[in-house]
Amino acid sequence: MPRNSGADNSPVRAPRPHSPAPPPRIDRLAPVSFRHRYGRFAAASEAEWSDWRWQMRNAVTTVDELKELLPLTAAESAKIGETAAQWHFQIPPYYFSLIDPEDPFDPVRLQSLPHPDELDRTDDDAPDPLSEDSDAPVHGLTHRYPDRVLFVTTSFCAMYCRHCMRKRHWNPFEPQKTKDELEAMYGYIAAHPEVRDVLVSGGDPLMLADEHLFEILRRLSQIPHLEIIRLGTRVPAYLPMKLTPEYARALAAAAGGASEKPTALWVNTHFNHPRELTPEAARACEALLKAGIPVNNQAVLLKGINDDGRIVMALCRELLKAKVRPAYLFHCDPIRGVTHFRTSVRKGLEIVEYLRGHLTGFAVPTYAIDAPGGGGKIPLHPNTIVSWGEGHVVLRNFEGVLVSVPDGDPPARALPAGERPRTPYDSVANLTQAPGALVPRGNKRLARRPVQAGENVIPLARGVHLPIVDE
Ligand SMILES: *Cc1c(COP(=O)(O)O)cnc(C)c1O
Repeated sequence: MPRNSGADNSPVRAPRPHSPAPPPRIDRLAPVSFRHRYGRFAAASEAEWSDWRWQMRNAVTTVDELKELLPLTAAESAKIGETAAQWHFQIPPYYFSLIDPEDPFDPVRLQSLPHPDELDRTDDDAPDPLSEDSDAPVHGLTHRYPDRVLFVTTSFCAMYCRHCMRKRHWNPFEPQKTKDELEAMYGYIAAHPEVRDVLVSGGDPLMLADEHLFEILRRLSQIPHLEIIRLGTRVPAYLPMKLTPEYARALAAAAGGASEKPTALWVNTHFNHPRELTPEAARACEALLKAGIPVNNQAVLLKGINDDGRIVMALCRELLKAKVRPAYLFHCDPIRGVTHFRTSVRKGLEIVEYLRGHLTGFAVPTYAIDAPGGGGKIPLHPNTIVSWGEGHVVLRNFEGVLVSVPDGDPPARALPAGERPRTPYDSVANLTQAPGALVPRGNKRLARRPVQAGENVIPLARGVHLPIVDE
């Protein structure tokens, strides 16, 4: 692909005085296709529309096409052009059609259209803050964790996410690894029996020629100690028509059928907003699942797109309906060209705290930050341990209820009925001793229990009553 001059040689620019990004809309969380609003796309036949090659041939890649499709002012299109000269773009008609042409802050638009803030630089951004390349013993392969490696196959994607964590790979652009490079990558894994899991990523490996990818999967599955292969792909989100049942079965066969020892194939995909979970996207996930390939989602927390608990909640629910497990919610890293999407750790914690209790337990993604310098993913959890003392630990549940839970060995002597071990001094734990819990007023769960008339208490369990306290 013809690409422009090196991103790293561009001059350092002071961040623009940002007009504050509006918070993401929470009134429109269902997927809608605006295809009828884009004449050029509406005119395509159904056969063309559902042909991924037609989608790629007709992908939007120039500012002139954008001007035709969206109401852009001259100043806006000039800025987009300036940005695109450094950070290219490509949007298949299917994905483009999820953009509301009237909404400049549409979540699909913000993920796919160049934005001048991409040219900003801040002191703490870097092309490769996670040191993926420094931790690469051979080109294309990052060995960071003891038992698994990242295996980067291509720079090519159907759509270039504006928040791409590997924006440094856009230029120089590597369409695919050479034969020799791949041999070195297989060789490294073969020589390291501790590696049992390989994460085949990119770019998007599902954009490689079928036979090329199948060959990679076959070669990997022949390595005796390799147990699982994970494919990192956004095809279900931006080009779902490519994931036909036949293609999914061929992927599973390439990973599982080449040796006596089948290698388990998994897919990590990447949906960030519930509006991306269209019936087509769900069908692509279904094709993988029916081929025996489990699908996990890795979302990124993005300012102005999904930095609201209600949006992430809706995303996780839509993923569950498509039988895709929300695995990770990644904090947005300080990557050059992406910094304008970063939000606070506080926001991320607020979101996962909101999900807990209100959403199917296993659908709460692990919120994690990838440590600069190659420290790896560090999960972040809201605090649920309020106090830890002798004989008990005070915990906070999703409702804000504080409960004291006995901890450690059972006491040597039986305590009188209803009494709990106490610390010999004032402590947070003693707050909860007599009733066993402190409950904020208005607790809906306990309000569902029968209240004894005239008593300002709620029966918590047989023989245990809670006084209602103010928050
Ligand atoms: C994310 C990542 C992995 C996989 O980590 P999991 O937590 O197992 O998904 C492996 N290697 C590198 C370098 C990574 O960044």
